[in-house]
Amino acid sequence: MIGFLPEIYEDELVYSWIARYYCRTGYNAYIYANEDFYTHSRTRPDMEYMNQLSEDATTAISGYISIEKLIREHTMIPQIRFTEPETLRKAWIRMLTQAGSLREVVLGSRSGRNRQLRYCPLCVREDRELYGETWWHRSAQIHGVGICVKHKCRLVSTGIQLKADNKLLHIAALEVRDSKPQYVDNEKELAFVSYIAEVFYKEINFDNTISINSFLASRIDGTEYLREQRHLRNMKLLYEDMMKFYQGYPFVTLNKPHQLVTCLKGQRHGLFDICQIAYFLGITANELVALDVSGTDLEKSVRYDNAETDYEISEGTRRKIPNQNCYLHAKKKRKNTHYFKSLSGKQNIDWAKIDNELLPFVHDKCVEIYGVQDSKPGRVGIKTIEKALHLPDNRFQYLPRCRAEILLFKEKKEEHWARKTVWGFRQLTNQRPESVTFTKLIHLTGIHADRMMKCLPYLSMFCDKDEEMKIKQLVIPRFEV
Ligand SMILES: [Zn+2]
Repeated sequence: MIGFLPEIYEDELVYSWIARYYCRTGYNAYIYANEDFYTHSRTRPDMEYMNQLSEDATTAISGYISIEKLIREHTMIPQIRFTEPETLRKAWIRMLTQAGSLREVVLGSRSGRNRQLRYCPLCVREDRELYGETWWHRSAQIHGVGICVKHKCRLVSTGIQLKADNKLLHIAALEVRDSKPQYVDNEKELAFVSYIAEVFYKEINFDNTISINSFLASRIDGTEYLREQRHLRNMKLLYEDMMKFYQGYPFVTLNKPHQLVTCLKGQRHGLFDICQIAYFLGITANELVALDVSGTDLEKSVRYDNAETDYEISEGTRRKIPNQNCYLHAKKKRKNTHYFKSLSGKQNIDWAKIDNELLPFVHDKCVEIYGVQDSKPGRVGIKTIEKALHLPDNRFQYLPRCRAEILLFKEKKEEHWARKTVWGFRQLTNQRPESVTFTKLIHLTGIHADRMMKCLPYLSMFCDKDEEMKIKQLVIPRFEV
């Protein structure tokens, strides 16, 4: 039972608050403090977010501070604010109703990966002067921000890993040492970290439905990074310009072309990753959190090319692999083909080289099967590409870059059916809009009727509201008794 609660300070982590509670109770083991807060006494306190509270604790805390305020202002939830809207909302409701922890929905077992609990020596000094004690501040734990924005000095690492399953309650008063502040005068770096911090502290709108990648796409389309052929964005140029822009910064996370591409395709949404792109594109913090795409033409078929495929392939390689048919040819005459000769020998196979050389072909095949513009969408998978390129079984297990490229095109079954349904609907509408029927749609797409029903929630990813409604009007009546 919680008998009293210490005051929670501004910007204090929930973890820090519970640690101070433990300190004040005088318990001789932290598991007793755990018993007061959590359903299970063996719960390992989450340092950045919040574990599921027990019913008693929820009641006691709610009398002091609302659970909503506690999550919004005392956990690192802004760090995952760019997660897919649907997932974020689910996690939010789960935390709000204390039906589970956020990690189960959003982060899995992932934790800070070598990040440490940090503090600003000057904030600590101020805390001690004003309140007689210090605490763990959220502002010092933001990924990518190694400077205290208020005091313009470097944050100090404690050596304590920022983990989801930390075994101890580390009390700031015991861990923080007095240290001399190390001031930063690099204006460029200061401006960038201030930007990330500004985004971090903006209020999160959990009702938002626009995904961050759609928003970034809408902003890229107004720039030189959209190629003249409307279906490709020029990732090579964007990547190179970004690298030039961030030269001299202590560290950036998007320093490989594929990392930028995965981010823009919506497969990475960390605050620090997104801020790097947005800051480079000149998007203000207010614009970034508003995610306003009104007035922009979100062309669904626009795709990101892969920055890596743009790099030059040597003339020698081109001659060796004139087109993908060569693989069929090569398979028949394996011994005589220079290219496969190197593959068939047991020793000295330079897989890295083959990986690089094969990558453009793998990419093109993926794009071809995935479907560009009007062609029928297909589902890309490792086996499909292996077959299409006439490669031996399990070849991609030796070719990590090619494998990663294929995985970029991976989609859920339901997503694939939804994409195909939208494609089919558009084809039929273009032919004779007045006579589009369910049977024709099934016939053209080859999707089983039950599956078409299952994919309805995913339609909005590929079409606008109007089309979504029309498709639903075709499909749903079929299943109503
Ligand atoms: Zn400070």
